[in-house]
This record gives sequence, structure tokens and C-alpha cells, in this order.
Amino acid sequence: IGGMRKKLIAGNWKMNQTPSQAVVLADALKKTVSGKEAAEIVVCPPYTALIPVRDALKGSSIHLGAQDLHWEDQGAFTGKISADMLLDAGCTHVIIGHSEQRTYFHETDATVNKKLIKALAGGLVPIFCIGETLEERDGGRAFDVVKKQLEGGFAGMKDAGHTVLAYEPVWAIGTGRNATPEQAQEMHAFIRKTIASLFSAAVADGMRILYGGSMKPDNAAGLLAQPDIDGGLIGGAALKADSFYGIVKAAG
Ligand code: PGA
Repeated sequence: IGGMRKKLIAGNWKMNQTPSQAVVLADALKKTVSGKEAAEIVVCPPYTALIPVRDALKGSSIHLGAQDLHWEDQGAFTGKISADMLLDAGCTHVIIGHSEQRTYFHETDATVNKKLIKALAGGLVPIFCIGETLEERDGGRAFDVVKKQLEGGFAGMKDAGHTVLAYEPVWAIGTGRNATPEQAQEMHAFIRKTIASLFSAAVADGMRILYGGSMKPDNAAGLLAQPDIDGGLIGGAALKADSFYGIVKAAG
């Protein structure tokens, strides 16, 4: 049944691309993408570029995602963006729990949990990020850390809805040092087993688990050929239409 999972390639533009630069990139992607690709495609620009990118992508098969959201509906939360705001801006997806949010901006498993619940309630597809640091991997704790992130993120939830997971080893993000296909597959299989125990075998079997961390056109095929790797969350290589599309093509 694993073959039923449609691959997903998501671009995480991080804090890059002003609105006008983002439109240039979106235009280039729209020209490159035929709509016949085997993989689903999502781009996640910064908030200020969401609406111009939505408009630039009109008529294309590329979906729009945000990089975070706040779990409250509205009110006195200076600097925050709600699920409704993202939906109204045309988003279908939202990244939650990225390691940069965890490391620099006090994201915890508890805040991830509130964000997941809010995103799913609003009909957004969460791209829920997990992954260990180098110190944790070297200390033999990678699997425990990832399990704890999954348990904490999904705490109290009976339904994972359309959640997509992204396994992003912190030591591979932006470093040019990707996990090997074997390392990634080993963790993805463990993640799927953990999801089966948290929800059910059927949920685990249907859930897409992306790999992220220095994925590039020249290493994507090997990673994406693994049985439990269902796509990629792409940072640096998503900022150029040709390299991003190279990864989309590697997905089959
Ligand atoms: P990278 O980033 O592809 O630049 O390593 C991936 C991510 O952080 O989502």
C-alpha cells in the first residue's frame, strides 16, 4: 500500500525572497511545471509574499504553504498569523515545528501540538517537522528524540488528519551534508512504526514522511527511491526554479 502514497516536494523559502523577488521565482516555477508531474508540489514563501505568490501561481498545479502559524484565532498576539489568515491568503499547507523555530524561537512539542490541532481544524495540511541534532545522534539518542517529538506533537490527538511529516536531521539542514539514503530510510521506517503505535497501521501506511536536509537534484533520487521516503522538504535548493524542479523530477 506504500505505493499509494503520492510523493510531495515542498519548498521552504525560509526568510528569503521579498514579495517582488518571490513573484519572479513563482513565475519561473509556473513556467517550468507542466502539471503532469508525479509529485505534488508546494512552495512556502515568507508571509509577506504569500498573496503575490498565490496570484502569480494562479492556474498552475503548485500549492501554497506558510512557514508557521499561531494557534489562537485572533486578538492581541502581536507578530502572529492565524490559520484563518493563511486560508484566506490561499494557503493549503503550513510548516509546523521546523528546527529553526525550535532552536531560535522557543518552539516546543507543546506549542507544536497546539499548532497541529489548529491547522487541522482549519483544513490546512500541516508539514510537521521532527529531527535530532548532531549531538543527539552521536549520543545514540536520535530515535528517542524523534519518538518524543512525535508523541509530544500528537499528544491527545485521536486523528492525524492529513498531516505530513518531515524528518529533518538538524545536522543536515543547510550544511551540505545530507543523511545517506540508508540513514534516512532507517529513521523513516522507525517513524512509520511509531505512527502505527500512536494511531493505527492504516494511518501509518497512508502518512507521507518527507526527508529534509541538504536535498539537491543530485542526491534526491537515491533518497526518494527508499520505500519510506515520500518526498522532500527543500530549503536552499528551492530558491532556484531549475534546482527545485530537478528534485521534483527525481520524485518520478
Ligand atoms: P536545506 O533546508 O535544504 O537548505 O538543508 C531544509 C529545511 O530546513 O527545510
